[in-house]
Amino acid sequence: MSTYTAPLADIRFALFDVLKADAHYARLPGGESATRDILDAVLDEAARFTEQVLAPLNARGDEEGCRFDKTTGNVTTPEGFKEAYAQFVSGGWGGLTAPEQYGGQHLPESIGAPLKEMIDSANLSWGTYPLLSHGATEALKQHGEEWQREVFLKPIVDGRWTGTMCLTEPHCGSDLGLLKSKAAPNADGSYAISGTKIFITAGEHDFTENIVHLVLARLPDAPPGTKGISLFIVPKYKTGKDGKMRERNSLACGAIEHKMGIKGSATCVMNFDAAEGWLIGQPNRGLTAMFTMMNTARLAVGLQGLGLIERAYQSSLAYARTRLQMRALSGPKFPDKPADPLIVHPDIRRMLLTQKAFAEGGRVLGYYAATLVDLVERAPDENERKRADELLSFIIPIVKGLLTEAAVECTSHALQIFGGHGYIRETGVEQFARDARITTIYEGTTQIQALDLLGRKILQSQGTGLKHFLEEISAFCQAQAQNAGVIEFIAPLAVATKEWADLTQEIGKRALGNADEVGAAAVDYLFYSGYVALAYFWARSVVAAEGAQQSTEFRQAKWATARFYFARILPRTAMHAAILRASLDSLMAMPDAQFG
Ligand SMILES: Cc1cc2nc3c(=O)[nH]c(=O)nc-3n(C[C@H](O)[C@H](O)[C@H](O)COP(=O)(O)OP(=O)(O)OC[C@H]3O[C@@H](n4cnc5c(N)ncnc54)[C@H](O)[C@@H]3O)c2cc1C
Repeated sequence: MSTYTAPLADIRFALFDVLKADAHYARLPGGESATRDILDAVLDEAARFTEQVLAPLNARGDEEGCRFDKTTGNVTTPEGFKEAYAQFVSGGWGGLTAPEQYGGQHLPESIGAPLKEMIDSANLSWGTYPLLSHGATEALKQHGEEWQREVFLKPIVDGRWTGTMCLTEPHCGSDLGLLKSKAAPNADGSYAISGTKIFITAGEHDFTENIVHLVLARLPDAPPGTKGISLFIVPKYKTGKDGKMRERNSLACGAIEHKMGIKGSATCVMNFDAAEGWLIGQPNRGLTAMFTMMNTARLAVGLQGLGLIERAYQSSLAYARTRLQMRALSGPKFPDKPADPLIVHPDIRRMLLTQKAFAEGGRVLGYYAATLVDLVERAPDENERKRADELLSFIIPIVKGLLTEAAVECTSHALQIFGGHGYIRETGVEQFARDARITTIYEGTTQIQALDLLGRKILQSQGTGLKHFLEEISAFCQAQAQNAGVIEFIAPLAVATKEWADLTQEIGKRALGNADEVGAAAVDYLFYSGYVALAYFWARSVVAAEGAQQSTEFRQAKWATARFYFARILPRTAMHAAILRASLDSLMAMPDAQFG
């Protein structure tokens, strides 16, 4: 069964050498407390907790799953999950980046990114419980009234209560405009929330005394579609403005789903039957409040992808070093052994290096996005906050879309490296492949991320975020233009960046003639963008590795992985560019009836 070792050296490299996190924190208000000593201690302790407490529960959680008691409506999580959560709470992890006034430690958001990655590598299912609390914290922090923050935020931050996001209904997934749940005003200023929500992560569990549901519903005279959706706080136990928990609210878990992966995560059908709830933010502006949560939640799911890539890589690397099969085509590499280990074979190396390139490049990409969240929240200058916000909105669908699709690819490579031993349960890798599959679906599918990127974030907003990002890459390329040592990376990066801008214009022009062009291009455009973004972060990584206090071996490995990325992954952009230039007819000409 696979074990997990937190990749602390590479996490530190990404944060401190590539992204210069020390200098970044030093200039943020409240960031002074994020000194290198503190950060190192946080990372070491997060590694200990995830390696020793969470990782050993992962396979068991998958075997055991959650149990639902039809009579009581209670959900029991796999053995050990609840105790691990108690340790998480006593370690203060839930409040790491939350505001001090609500009991948090107020460290910058990007410090939470490596913690999330480590949790997701160790035990993705377990990680879904605190994940949703983080989303609820963000929504309350930014849109809640003061009394709501006082009453609901504190217990969520200190871990006594957890949060959920209740959007999906049986007939309404990607298209939230279809949602039907209702909210009727009560005389005391609260609302009676009614409706059925499905697929609600951590909707019911045995970790905490109360669960705070953030529910999307419609007010009586709400306009149809997405303009008529409001957001409500609906606690499992009614909680008044005095903060006292009262009787059980009229909501219950009706069932839990039996599913392909993340079996330790309770996926619940939640029935609300005139349950007492409180409006958050403005009436009919629920989606605006939800969008605030979505950036953090989508980044968090991107980090789930990253965590799984890292875990799959560690497992398959260990196996490839020890499993002896066949001789290297160029002659035996270990003549004293009956066969050579898998790692000598070129195609095994392709699958290993693909995982390594996505893990390490993806780490920089994910943490980079998290540092933008820091800037949006804390940069002293308004223009800087605005620029960071535009850049963040643009990069989030890339982080979510690319890292989760890469997780599906990389966990499949890991399984393939194990051969038949990967397909059977004993080795643990098939769990990673099953767990990875949901990450491209929830929190907005890959298609929805792609439409968000190309439609909303580029074509409908004059591509401001893309412009900032292209300027940043261009400045980097110019700064490195005289650095002969890295020109092999800078030249193709500059070419790909120019093609990215050209393709965007071409698609934009075609979309003016037919809006279906956007839908036809979106997913290939997302992959194209993701591969170029990773090329940029790989180029930055080799430059940073030159100046870093790292061993020669570490630097050489960075260099070799970057060469692999530029030679064997970045060329995927050529395929996506060709598809992006293909006619719309090749997709749309065939009438629906002729599909068969
Ligand atoms: C394990 C699990 C946990 C979940 N947790 C939560 C949770 O905590 N809270 C919550 O509210 N929801 C949750 N969900 C729901 C999840 O977010 C939805 O399943 C997801 O948004 C997709 O909605 P859907 O399943 O209805 O698919 P649909 O929206 O019906 O989409 C079906 C397919 O069509 C594609 N599609 C739809 N529209 C377009 C388009 N315009 N162009 C191209 N393709 C399109 C989609 O990408 C998808 O591939 C969870 C789901 C699962 C399985």
